[in-house]
Amino acid sequence: MLILDDTITAIATPLGAGGLGVIRLSGTQAIEVASLLFQGPPSLKNSPSHTLHHGVLKEGTEILDDVVVGLFRAPRSYTGEDVVEFSCHGGAQVLRRVLESCLRAGARMADPGEFTRRAFVNGKMDLTQAEAVGDLIAARSDAQRRLALDALHGKITRPIQPLRDKLLHLLAHLEAHLDFVEDEIPDLSRAGLRDELRFTREALETLVGTPGRHRLWREGVRVAIVGRPNAGKSSLFNAFLQENRAIVAAVPGTTRDTLEESVVWDGVPLTLVDTAGLRETDDRVEKEGADRARQALAGANLIFFVVDAENGPRSEDREVAKTVGDRPTILVLNKIDRVTGPPLASLESRWRRGLPWEEAPVSLVSARTSIGLRELGRAALRLAGAGEEPHEPGIVLNARQGERLREAIDALSRALTGVDAGVPEEALAIELRLTLGALNNLTGQGAPEEVLDAIFSRFCVGK
Ligand code: GDP
Repeated sequence: MLILDDTITAIATPLGAGGLGVIRLSGTQAIEVASLLFQGPPSLKNSPSHTLHHGVLKEGTEILDDVVVGLFRAPRSYTGEDVVEFSCHGGAQVLRRVLESCLRAGARMADPGEFTRRAFVNGKMDLTQAEAVGDLIAARSDAQRRLALDALHGKITRPIQPLRDKLLHLLAHLEAHLDFVEDEIPDLSRAGLRDELRFTREALETLVGTPGRHRLWREGVRVAIVGRPNAGKSSLFNAFLQENRAIVAAVPGTTRDTLEESVVWDGVPLTLVDTAGLRETDDRVEKEGADRARQALAGANLIFFVVDAENGPRSEDREVAKTVGDRPTILVLNKIDRVTGPPLASLESRWRRGLPWEEAPVSLVSARTSIGLRELGRAALRLAGAGEEPHEPGIVLNARQGERLREAIDALSRALTGVDAGVPEEALAIELRLTLGALNNLTGQGAPEEVLDAIFSRFCVGK
């Protein structure tokens, strides 16, 4: 259980050298703790909310830093509690000392995501908005930033609220009908009920049925680079990254033993996994290597199947092709710089016939000279289903939100079948309650503690 009556603190900015580094305090004792350290002309305790103060932080006789203090009184703060923010000089030693002093003055170290969790618990935001805070911080592309900001501003919850009200109204009607003698309550006709439920279901379907391309803007595309040894997988991986200057830092949560990098390609985050890095030479570990390659394949949205255009197709190519199966694949004819003999069209058809991808898109590239890489990137986005970057990104749900919405739709569908089959109102009421439960869960009302733990533990400390 979350304890809300203590005061938490954390460094809210990344550790390293910077102009500023911010330390946050939140809780009933936040202003008290800050007052023990801060020395400036006004006393923080008597200062109004939303004010800034310049002074020094001191522990005993020692000055820790020159700071600007931001004061936010409950409930008009990020967490809904009293919040104090120290803008310190952004050095790791400064921040470490100030943090330690805050802890000694009575605050406790915040858990990951605890500031945002408190904001959620105190009703400053719903769960979709809290999730959006994490997404906004983690955004790798401009489209991801905009989607996260939309969600933060309530774009996911806003259309759900009136539907929830409607369902509550219908439920109240059904339940009233159960509790009283029939002719005392004006009867909601079955046809009327059916229309209302259908309308609600359609509205929810629209929300869940965000086109796949929007999902790609949110989640990105994962590409596994597959092929026989020496086809040029690693070279292609490197050439692709070089072609794109804006290499993004390693994706959090990925294991070190898979070689993967993310870039933003035409606005879409594209993660490349080089399965050459998974190849093992030793027999003992061969199985492990194959397992990892399979995992890389399973997690990929599409495959670059790389071949040495000059030499093949060989039985080794066909062997590797078997592991790919029928996943969306682009046949990448690499080392095209070396091909001098046959015209490219016949080369293409020779490869198509030699491998199980007669229909697959083909890209002619040279990892060495970077010929064809731009086209390969575009072909990848096309195959993954990313169209034009959405100007109006709409609503894009994450997996959790999508599941809750599906549950709501399923329960509504059962209610609709029930209406047509003439089942008793009691049974309909049960399904409506399940629908409402799923919608409440989506926005966080009554979401189980484990769900909240899982969401907020993905945040960093200080968020
Ligand atoms: P991997 O085993 O599939 O990862 O293959 P590598 O990327 O290690 O490449 C195998 C060999 O092919 C290396 O000697 C590369 O320099 C060479 N190679 C890769 N791509 C090209 C290319 O486009 N053109 C030429 N001429 N050589 C290439």
